[in-house]
Amino acid sequence: MPSKLEAGVRTFAGCGAPYDESEVVLFGAPFDSTTSYRPGARFASSSIRSESIGIETYSPYQMEDIENLKISDAGDLELPFGNAGRALDVVETFCGKVLDDGKMPVMIGGEHLLTFGAVRAVAARHPDLRLIHFDAHADLRRDYMGESLSHATVMRRVWDLLGDGRIYQFGIRSGTREEFDWATAHVRTELFTVRGIDGCSEAVSGYPVYISVDLDVIDPSEFPGTGTPEAGGVSFKDLLDALLCLKGLNVAGFDICELAPHYDVSGISTALACKVLREMLIAYY
Ligand code: MN
Ligand code: MN
Repeated sequence: MPSKLEAGVRTFAGCGAPYDESEVVLFGAPFDSTTSYRPGARFASSSIRSESIGIETYSPYQMEDIENLKISDAGDLELPFGNAGRALDVVETFCGKVLDDGKMPVMIGGEHLLTFGAVRAVAARHPDLRLIHFDAHADLRRDYMGESLSHATVMRRVWDLLGDGRIYQFGIRSGTREEFDWATAHVRTELFTVRGIDGCSEAVSGYPVYISVDLDVIDPSEFPGTGTPEAGGVSFKDLLDALLCLKGLNVAGFDICELAPHYDVSGISTALACKVLREMLIAYY
């Protein structure tokens, strides 16, 4: 038997259940080939796992210990750098297997495009899926420099799949005029803050929900370790309150994306990401 300490280094804190016995399956998706500015999100999952030894497995916010939950950590997928289409296929296939085994997939990105692979798997099994998206960026471009698959287009690709009125965005403070104009007719976009999360929670209640957290939604003063930092973001506490407001929904899968540990000299961003992940795992279990 490995000691607790060794187990904590290899898996995310407290997530030591065997796959077959687990209800939730955590996996890393180390890929950042379409990152438009500073790459490095491919290193997030290994960094989150190793740094998670620094946080408690117990949440005083929810009075629950992650060690009491049946969560397995499947490690990292092998994704082909430079080939976004195939990387998405690998993510979709893996999430599909997890779902077909009756478990919930939880992805540590990686860049945000990977969310599209996970959502494809979930939407194929839950056609009435709703998606809640936290981000600094709208990610609604039809294409980015001619490429339809990019972390700047990911929510537009999700819309291709889900259609009008099913995507709820929060914290958005960056995008083109075209993206914002397009958004008004097709998705619900809350600019700058997480206000309205209660109404969103009510609106999606009863539907299967996917939650995607692009961690750059948090202000760069608290979360500098990301590829496209955008001033004027929400606080960790704002995000946590919003995420806990979604507790009790029928969550079919979720992810956290866009931590780029190399821009995080002091390690505070990785520590924050670990805490967000712990709280989400407990809240949506
Ligand atoms: Mn972003
Ligand atoms: Mn994003």
